[in-house]
Amino acid sequence: MKKVFGLLTICLLFSNMGWAQEGRIPAKGFAVDSKEGHFHPYEFTRHAVGDNDVLIEILYAGICHSDLHSVWSEHGESRYPMVPGHEIVGRVIQTGNNVTKFKVGDYAGVGCMVNSCGHCASCEADMEQACEEGSVYTYGFPDRFHENEITMGGYSDRIVVSEDFVLKVSADADMKRVAPLLCAGITTWSPIHFSNVKKGDKVGVAGFGGLGHMAVQYAVQMGAEVTVFDITEEKRKDASRMGASRYVNVTNPKELKGLNNSLDFIISTIPADYSPLMYVNMLKKGGEMAIVGLPGNSNLNIASMAFVAPNRKVYGSFIGGIKETQEMLDYSIAHNIYPEVEIISANGKEIDKAYQNVLDGKVKFRYVIDMSTMNNK
Ligand code: NDP
Ligand code: ZN
Repeated sequence: MKKVFGLLTICLLFSNMGWAQEGRIPAKGFAVDSKEGHFHPYEFTRHAVGDNDVLIEILYAGICHSDLHSVWSEHGESRYPMVPGHEIVGRVIQTGNNVTKFKVGDYAGVGCMVNSCGHCASCEADMEQACEEGSVYTYGFPDRFHENEITMGGYSDRIVVSEDFVLKVSADADMKRVAPLLCAGITTWSPIHFSNVKKGDKVGVAGFGGLGHMAVQYAVQMGAEVTVFDITEEKRKDASRMGASRYVNVTNPKELKGLNNSLDFIISTIPADYSPLMYVNMLKKGGEMAIVGLPGNSNLNIASMAFVAPNRKVYGSFIGGIKETQEMLDYSIAHNIYPEVEIISANGKEIDKAYQNVLDGKVKFRYVIDMSTMNNK
């Protein structure tokens, strides 16, 4: 009996050592367990800090409308438990042996992706978001580089990411407002640049929320004349404060008059069911429309004659590559272009409430969770 007990102790000791040697990182955050679920404190572990990885203490995490779509399984069944969050800024607290880009104490950002193959044509072209073998998304996604463990996002105290997918954030940035740049910033910056928006262009921004208000700021900065489209009166003044020259409340048919064939470029960030045709018809001949909004459980219908004969280009755009994200971050910080944020504390009830407010159009313009206030630390 004594012998068996001794053997058991040794086995337990070894398995514990194995755990410790494996070096998994304990983490705490907020998860939901189902699409009807509420956010609750959640403890888990992250993969060990590999030679090319950095460990980041998360300071702030933004709440993107994509998080709502994912939590509520609006694009097919999501994986639970889920710790969302792909707008992350924090401080590096540990670096792997081969890391050269960061040192302990540096500020760092993480967006929607944490890995990709690194060698396909897309990755070689700095378009990791279109990796031919599939990008690894920041949460709710199997990480093939780490035994297919499901990734957990930024509503948490720390994260381990390969340095290639971590963005440098200059120490003089306004940290409270940096996180949303990692998704809302790059997702709007990228098509605005792809379509070569320039001074004097007439630009439409459909959906004036987290993404939309970044699009307005970038387009205004480039000298474009911006028209904002939304469904509320509440944001009319904000649009002109941000430099837009016109605000259209699309629920008022009178305000839509005279807009056909008038715009060079439109970005649609609308997250709910709508008809893109109305916007396509507003493009000049040869004009371009980028669709970035991802309405859940719905298909967008556009009549082909609306864009084929007038040679209008309608395309989708998905975040941006790491190099482009770094350019966007550096530019935004240097030009003082930030999201407008409402800071909430790291608490399940607060996050639940924030989700409802985003759905109800009651946020101006992005909720950011202050992870340092987490009381289950
Ligand atoms: P928000 O909820 O912050 O903003 C959406 C805005 O659209 C709100 O101002 C809302 O109005 C407005 N809106 C809703 N319905 C209409 C309508 N019919 N016409 C005009 N405006 C409307 O969402 P985000 O900006 O965070 O995200 C927008 C979308 O972009 C989401 O679907 C998200 O998943 C997607 N996304 C896509 C990415 C990509 O890479 N392509 C990356 C990140 C997000 P109000 O608030 O007044 O109700
Ligand atoms: Zn997002």
